Amino acid sequence: MRTEFDSELEQRLVRYAAIDSQSDEDSPSSPSTAIQLDMARLLVEELEAMGAEEVRLTDYGTVLATIPATPGVEAPVVGLLAHVDTAPAYNATGVKPVVHRNYNGGEIAFADAPELRLSPENSPYLGEKAGDDIITASGTTLLGADDKAGVAIAMTAARHLIDNPAIPHGKIRLAFTPDEEIGRGVDQRLPADLGADFAYTFDGSKPGEIIYETFSADAALVTVTGVSAHPGWAKDKLVNALHLASKIVQTLPQVTRTPETTDGRDGFLHLTEIRGNAAACELKLILRDFELDGLESHGALLRQVCEAVAATEPRAKITCAIRPQYRNMRYWLEKDMTPVELAREACRAVGLDPQGEPIRGGTDGSRLTEMGVPTPNIFTGMQEIHGPLEWISVQDMAVATKVALELVQRAAKG
Ligand SMILES: [Zn+2]
Repeated sequence: MRTEFDSELEQRLVRYAAIDSQSDEDSPSSPSTAIQLDMARLLVEELEAMGAEEVRLTDYGTVLATIPATPGVEAPVVGLLAHVDTAPAYNATGVKPVVHRNYNGGEIAFADAPELRLSPENSPYLGEKAGDDIITASGTTLLGADDKAGVAIAMTAARHLIDNPAIPHGKIRLAFTPDEEIGRGVDQRLPADLGADFAYTFDGSKPGEIIYETFSADAALVTVTGVSAHPGWAKDKLVNALHLASKIVQTLPQVTRTPETTDGRDGFLHLTEIRGNAAACELKLILRDFELDGLESHGALLRQVCEAVAATEPRAKITCAIRPQYRNMRYWLEKDMTPVELAREACRAVGLDPQGEPIRGGTDGSRLTEMGVPTPNIFTGMQEIHGPLEWISVQDMAVATKVALELVQRAAKG
């Protein structure tokens, strides 16, 4: 179905996707890459041009803006968020967005990657999208609909509200954050600077998806310090840290509690990195579970394994430090489901059946919710993200825009 938002959304996505704004997990700076500020500055310009108020770029790289409440409307302040960075997982330099207008339902080829094919076979949801306008990249990069689609949706909704002052809504705060993909999108100052009673990230996939459950996440760092000695004269002296590290790895569960052996509501321990030498080495792990007692049990198991291996070699030193990363937003949202209910009502109002599997990951909303701003996640339409097959339907983005508009009006009704 064509809507008045289609061409604006298409143009915004094409414009935003062409800007390289990839984040970098190895960079210690904030934002992690200066190129994200190119996107941020463009948004500042566009927000000012459309007549948004209090537009600013914070020194932590987040763009903030206000759409004032319709005169006479008393309502909670609602935040609309999206992230400007794209995933470090795949090439994001030189994105050339391609619009496949009135998609014919068959295979989509890529100008810059002759072997690559996108079709309902490798992306089943595409099979439902014949007749839509589909946007892809050209084959050598990701598209970055994650999360430029979210940016386009929030910007289009904002522009529509500014141009149509009769639509009743409360004060709306917009925030476009950097570094979501590397888990550093929510600065300590953001909740206060945002000043929203609750908020939504537009960073989900299929139409109708409203997510208010994410993993709870800890990160673990295991250090193994052996005893270094010249290998020629090492008899009865050398304690090889690498051997002990591999013992730890071998003792950890292999056929349960790993990402590759779990799905649904089951959590895991995941070894992400081993670095070091015979003298000393480090193991990095991430621990994930929907429930806190599950998360704790993964941590307890890891500690137990470290202690058991340490006991086999008293000359070595093994430490295990576990730190929290983010928490399941459900713990807060289930106390007051209003933000989730509003989003579900908004979906029904545009003819969608709201749904939401808990996501086996985190969002900026996980951190924000924990910091006092309940922030469920809403769909954008993005599919096959973080790779060359990434695609999105313009018409799905339009439905998400309508949900955003319904949402802010419903929030104003109380
Ligand atoms: Zn995203």
